[in-house]
Amino acid sequence: MSTDDISETTEATISRRNAMAGLATMMIPAAIAGTTEPAAAKALTKPATAEDERLMREALALAAKGDFPFGTVIARDGKILARGLNLGKQTHDPTAHGEMVAIRRFLSRQSPKTLKGTTLYTSGEPCAMCMGAIVWCGIARVVYAASVTEIEAHLGQIRISCTEIAQKTPFETIEITGGVLAAEALKLFR
Ligand SMILES: [Zn+2]
Repeated sequence: MSTDDISETTEATISRRNAMAGLATMMIPAAIAGTTEPAAAKALTKPATAEDERLMREALALAAKGDFPFGTVIARDGKILARGLNLGKQTHDPTAHGEMVAIRRFLSRQSPKTLKGTTLYTSGEPCAMCMGAIVWCGIARVVYAASVTEIEAHLGQIRISCTEIAQKTPFETIEITGGVLAAEALKLFR
């Protein structure tokens, strides 16, 4: 048997007999990889501080005035840099969530660079849209009051936690603190 014969036999074996088996073998690792979390999860759970409560109270005060009861403040080193509240009805804009309004107000006055590394306080856990915006803006920390699950008892929600989105964002590390004054945020739904 010549070298060419071996080569032909090998090719024939792969193409004719084991094509499906070979394909299956190649697909298994890909399937496993697809169901595994990224090697380094990019959501860090942080405990709340007294400062967090103070700033959350500012977000709650805004939430009380929103079209839907959601309010947001963006802060750095304890100083508030932008405020937002849900304006969905008055602006006829379903994307005018408190977080989006705060981010847009911030960017109307300051560069995107200064938004990086800030902390966003919000009375309701950011939805998938807002968490996406938070990630794209490089906001470093999210502190929320009521969770998506808790809010769902009052208002339809996309059932994705902001932590899940952060975990699937390999290019940013985002600290998340949930449940700060959650009972007070939920009282605003009546
Ligand atoms: Zn949202």
